[in-house]
Amino acid sequence: MKKSLILLCILSAQYILGQENYPRDAFRSPLDIPLILAGTFGELRSNHFHSGIDIKTRQRQGLPVYAIADGTVSRIKVSHWGYGKALYIAHPNGYTSVYAHLQKFSPEIEAYVKQTQYRNRSYEIEVFPEYGQLKVSKDSLVAYSGNTGGSSGPHLHFEIRSSLTEKPTNPLLYGLDVRDATNPTLEGLYAYPLSGDAVVNQSEDRVQLSLTRQADGSYLASEVIAIGTIGFGVAAYDRQDLAANQNGLYELEQKVNGRVTAAFDFDSFSFGETRLINTLIDYEYLSKYRRRIQRCFKWNGNDLSIYKQLENDGKLTVLPGMNYTVEITLKDLAGNSSRVVIPVEGRREIPLEKKEVLKTDHYISAGKPNNFDLGRARVFFPANTFYEDFYIDLKSNNDTVTIHNNSVPAHKNFTLTFDTQGYDEGFLKTAFIARLDERLRPDYMKTYKRGASFSTRTRSLGTFTLARDTVPPTIRPKNFKSKQWLTNYRYLSLLISDDLSGIASYEATLNGEWILMEYEPKNNTITYNFDDKILDKKQCDLKVVVTDNVGNSTTFTSSFFRS
Ligand SMILES: [Zn+2]
Repeated sequence: MKKSLILLCILSAQYILGQENYPRDAFRSPLDIPLILAGTFGELRSNHFHSGIDIKTRQRQGLPVYAIADGTVSRIKVSHWGYGKALYIAHPNGYTSVYAHLQKFSPEIEAYVKQTQYRNRSYEIEVFPEYGQLKVSKDSLVAYSGNTGGSSGPHLHFEIRSSLTEKPTNPLLYGLDVRDATNPTLEGLYAYPLSGDAVVNQSEDRVQLSLTRQADGSYLASEVIAIGTIGFGVAAYDRQDLAANQNGLYELEQKVNGRVTAAFDFDSFSFGETRLINTLIDYEYLSKYRRRIQRCFKWNGNDLSIYKQLENDGKLTVLPGMNYTVEITLKDLAGNSSRVVIPVEGRREIPLEKKEVLKTDHYISAGKPNNFDLGRARVFFPANTFYEDFYIDLKSNNDTVTIHNNSVPAHKNFTLTFDTQGYDEGFLKTAFIARLDERLRPDYMKTYKRGASFSTRTRSLGTFTLARDTVPPTIRPKNFKSKQWLTNYRYLSLLISDDLSGIASYEATLNGEWILMEYEPKNNTITYNFDDKILDKKQCDLKVVVTDNVGNSTTFTSSFFRS
């Protein structure tokens, strides 16, 4: 009895009305410049929600990054893609801070990383140092900001996760100072007929509603004449002060006749659910028009945990002769908001715009596994690859197969297998499965070759073909020439590239000893830092081997001098 009472007290202290009580004074900013954001938490990205904030670093790399509180380094990951060089610090209050796309680490951490890289003979590493092995204190320098990994410009990607659940939380909940007096912007408003009998403004398909700005700053939508079950969607973004970046919303609330029927926010989500973004947004619309509409109602397969309130899944059933006032409010975390009012009249009208449903010979029952033969290839979709049933468009022509198009999101990987019997061995050795991009250029897909069977796993629908890469990678020196004296050089850089299948691996030795080359795919550069090792010989023999994804390989050798 007593125990449960204590537990209850602890729970209610941590959770107020089901919301976690985020500490607002525990953390300092990771940078010592004013925080200007290029991205917010929960922002809609390709196949995922953004799990942190992107802090602008004045278009530069090398800004000092500080530990936001005392803690211990719990994980370091160095990768060509994704987070690039990333540092994770666990704090005693149960949160872990994450700093990504770093240029390099602080000297102590950098030494630890280099040691690991030389031991593993790999630039890409992932380590989990022992608790307390790499302690940091609040305000101590832990790294320098950069542009490594899947970053398209210098910035610091910063996260605060729960150490226990690894769930990322919104870093702006912790009292970080970001100047923001700007209201969210509504770019587009859409209405969706959802039930079989539903019609909106004489259309059975989604319609865009026109908007007018009212004197008080709110928006008024053109009147909706509808019948049946309908829903709404918004294309919107939020801006902070001091930058024009179009960032994501924090919160959305929908009311019907004054009653909240849908509300969600981005306090936190889990990485396990992030791909469900494709059920929140209108994926088909995105694929056609490159604009993200967030649905204000729950659609098939949407199990997202972001909802705070939901009535009838946020859908509205419109009855003839009835009038409704729908109000959607967009909010940011600083308390700025924008509101749109949509008058809805229940009236049956003849639909002029029919919803086009493509009918093919092949039907996907989303809940079941589906297997299809495509001549030389076959495709297998495990159960629940898709969120809804649909007619799938399948075409095949020799080595090229088209599996629908990218207007339908896949939640799981499916398997595409080519039968390569009859091809000569020379072809098969250099062949791979490629997905053709919009400009019909082949993108390498990781190809598993088992006998005559080539297969790949992917979540992207589209056109696939057997492509061939017979050209080995190229290697050329970037900042030196053979037989040159490089005494005052700090770095040795080479350019490496591969025309088709892409670079699978690279390795370099200096006088026969493995050296660390940092690979930056964005500028095709591998770089050696002369500080890594003491060279005891005057003449240095460099050897670099680069291999592409089908096994073509190039060896480059050169000599230079140092004193
Ligand atoms: Zn980011």
